[in-house]
Amino acid sequence: MNQEVFRDENIKKILEKVRTIWALDIADSLMGWDIEVLMPQEGATERGVARAELQALSQSILKSKELKNLVDEAEKNMEKLNDYEKGLIRVLKRRMKIATAIPEEILKEYVKTTSEATIQWRIARSKSEYGIFKPYLEKIVDLMRKFAEYLGYEEHPYDALLDLHEEGFRTRDADKMFNILEPGIRRIFSRVQREGVYKSKHELEDMEYNVEDMKNLNLEILKILEYPLGVRSRFDVSTHPFTTSIGIRDVRITTRYEGKDFKRSMYSTIHEYGHALYELQIDERLSGTILATGVSGGIHESQSRFWENIIGRSRVFAEAIYPTIKKHLKFVEKYTPEEIYYYFNTVKPSLIRVDADEVTYNLHILLRYKLEKSMITGELKMDELPEVWNTEIEKLLGIRPKKDSEGVLQDIHWSSGLGSFCNYTIGNVVAAQILNHIKREINFENQIAKLDFKPIREYLKNKIHIWGSVYEPKELLKRSFNEEMNPEHLLKYLEEKYLKG
Ligand code: MG
Repeated sequence: MNQEVFRDENIKKILEKVRTIWALDIADSLMGWDIEVLMPQEGATERGVARAELQALSQSILKSKELKNLVDEAEKNMEKLNDYEKGLIRVLKRRMKIATAIPEEILKEYVKTTSEATIQWRIARSKSEYGIFKPYLEKIVDLMRKFAEYLGYEEHPYDALLDLHEEGFRTRDADKMFNILEPGIRRIFSRVQREGVYKSKHELEDMEYNVEDMKNLNLEILKILEYPLGVRSRFDVSTHPFTTSIGIRDVRITTRYEGKDFKRSMYSTIHEYGHALYELQIDERLSGTILATGVSGGIHESQSRFWENIIGRSRVFAEAIYPTIKKHLKFVEKYTPEEIYYYFNTVKPSLIRVDADEVTYNLHILLRYKLEKSMITGELKMDELPEVWNTEIEKLLGIRPKKDSEGVLQDIHWSSGLGSFCNYTIGNVVAAQILNHIKREINFENQIAKLDFKPIREYLKNKIHIWGSVYEPKELLKRSFNEEMNPEHLLKYLEEKYLKG
């Protein structure tokens, strides 16, 4: 099946070897999905051991002399290779580097520390006591410094960590991105608050729903979006919604039901649909290879946020989906589509990142980015962290946490390392950038109004999805939009929606 895109003899030999890695990836994804959706509580220990065994097997292939020789051989003739073949070498070398750079004992220490840290973080958060988590975070930051040294970097140790989550993305790029976003967002946010068109609260946020009705609403929305439920995908429930790809023809999403504030469940569903669509629309010819997955966390997040925010929270979507919502949730009848739109888009300074709106969300990421950068260099001491957090969030949003669980302990991310937060802002930036370009080629709002998303799906497929991991993120954007990542589009989007809408 891969013959069409993979022709070189050396590459074919590499693909043979790599197919095992791909299969182990698939097994790991399925086991991970099962942990969140089906596994009984006590299965955790054995499952952990089984996953670690499979991962070690995958690592041993990545570290093998045989594979290295094949890759070296292929690299001698890079100019003869096509883009798919070059992409395979790029992705493989990246994984080989990560597998070989970090010594086994450090990796073991990392696995041990982070699994303990995750448990301790939960305890610390429930008691709102940073002191419980602090010793683990100290160890993790120390390990992250070691990771950076082993992986190598040119300018800043944090570069090495960013690169693990977003290939090619550097501290320099993050600084540039936030230097543009911060003043712009602050200006927009203060005007939104002053003008008061977008409210900080809506009574529907407290309105309880029947879970069965909500589920039917989510299912109908997925049907409208033409999610291939049961054919190539599933829809389940988990504590934290997520998407897993178990191959191009088996992509699964989950959502959650909190019992009130229906937009939360609805937007979780639409968000994960965006992730799933990316995986579902990858070129079938890449099936069975390690290129058959989204290229990076940031690009992946751009897809989920494009559907959740750019489409899902738009005025035209709110109007178009209103009858569907009303059909399943009777209490919505007493509100106009216009009121529903404002319910979808409340804007307020929030202490909690996951509750933040489109306007303030990236300020939460900016805070984490600044803190992580100075944790890595050692400028920020772990003793000072909660106080610095509180001071900085107050500078950004004008509100101050009263306890650690509203501040430094709110996210699970630091119990597994540093470097992942920027992906969320990259996602928002790229989503707004895609909006700018898609509008030039199709009648975007008109399609949403008709709830006919085919041209939008096709556009995203051709520009992003079909390529899987063939091109690295920066090159993908350049090829598809003839433009580098540009945060100005996000500011323009927020301005048009929140100041002129
Ligand atoms: Mg996501």
